[in-house]
Amino acid sequence: MALQSLRGTADLLPDELTRWSALEQTARRLAGLYGYRELRTPLIEDAALFLRSVGETTDIVQKEMFRFQDRGGQEIALRPEGTAPVVRAYLQHHLDKIQGVAKLFYAGPMFRAERPQAGRFRQFHQYGAEAIGSASPWMDVEIITLCLDVLRACGVTRTTLWLMSMGCRKDQERSAAQLRERLAPLRAKLCRECQARFDKNVFRTLDCKNPRCHELAWGAMPNGQSPFVLCEECRAHVDTVRLGLRGAGIAFDDTRTFARGLDYYTRTVFEVRAEGLGAQDAVAAGGRYDHLVEEFGGPSVGAVGFAAGVERVLMAQQAAGTALPAPGRGGVYLAVTRAPLVAEGFHFVDALRKAGVPAAMDLDGKSFKAQLREADKSGYRFLAILGEDEVTQRAMTVKDLEQGSQDLVSFDTFVATMAGRLKAAA
Ligand SMILES: [Zn+2]
Ligand SMILES: [Zn+2]
Repeated sequence: MALQSLRGTADLLPDELTRWSALEQTARRLAGLYGYRELRTPLIEDAALFLRSVGETTDIVQKEMFRFQDRGGQEIALRPEGTAPVVRAYLQHHLDKIQGVAKLFYAGPMFRAERPQAGRFRQFHQYGAEAIGSASPWMDVEIITLCLDVLRACGVTRTTLWLMSMGCRKDQERSAAQLRERLAPLRAKLCRECQARFDKNVFRTLDCKNPRCHELAWGAMPNGQSPFVLCEECRAHVDTVRLGLRGAGIAFDDTRTFARGLDYYTRTVFEVRAEGLGAQDAVAAGGRYDHLVEEFGGPSVGAVGFAAGVERVLMAQQAAGTALPAPGRGGVYLAVTRAPLVAEGFHFVDALRKAGVPAAMDLDGKSFKAQLREADKSGYRFLAILGEDEVTQRAMTVKDLEQGSQDLVSFDTFVATMAGRLKAAA
């Protein structure tokens, strides 16, 4: 049997990659408008980075992270998410000393050993933005606005924004104690893992993949009340976020209770859900992580960010029927009537490319008819024909494959004319 790609991984063939690149470019461009600059971190990191940030008791670290020992015995992880590496890089390169707020954008593959299912991959892709160095609730508003702007620009408009506050660390301690107390009588009904992490991290019951734990944990609170009890400052923070979102004309739902399966979040957390994705309907999510920089040995500064799943956004785009249209015809295909004319043709194709015009010709001795079929099939806008008559007249026969028109273009002005026509058609 021929070799196959691994389950939960996907090849991106050129047609599909066109949509991917368009999405990433849109995200990068909009992030740039907001002053976020791109960085790239390695795909592999010291596993301890994620143990200390995402959390030892989380599903991501316990079950999903790809870990291995290198030959020297060091524990390596394939990055399961983007925030911890960005914060590590921010500190390693002293960005905290160079600028006030570091606004960073990233895009690339992440890895989790989840059971492959629709919309879930072992190698999946995210783009995201992090604003490190500010505790301001207005920064939360900016991050959410950027997150939604990218989705809107990609045609994913039917979305719901879920907004919640998980409180500061002190609030989380109080909230955990309260949740433990309420759940204690039900402890035996929780899954084995939730029982094991009950004392260390009771919040994991809130996002346990076992629906029973999930129901028990959320149901333990009276009247669907949030399990997160907020202090006065945290209440004021989330109030300002609401105010800012209203000012930006962004609708949100703050009646939902949800948990993000990572330990580093404090205060604002949010999810963006898109219609048409079924159970996997979160396309983007994020929140504030005000202690991570300090926990990594840096200064005590706030930070907030989001990450969006490229596969999910593209699925939402298709569900919404707003997938970017296939690119129109472009470029020039040069066909020769006789093989010896390839040398002459090659010279023109080379000149077109150097002028920035996509150009191609057959180098494989195809028949003239086969060349014409190829020009049409490959989506070229113009067909330039080079034959004996053309050489005599020192002019190329040029056919517009979209309009059906045809004319003669002098060799001397051929490159400039083609460049001009394609520019006019764009
Ligand atoms: Zn608080
Ligand atoms: Zn559980």
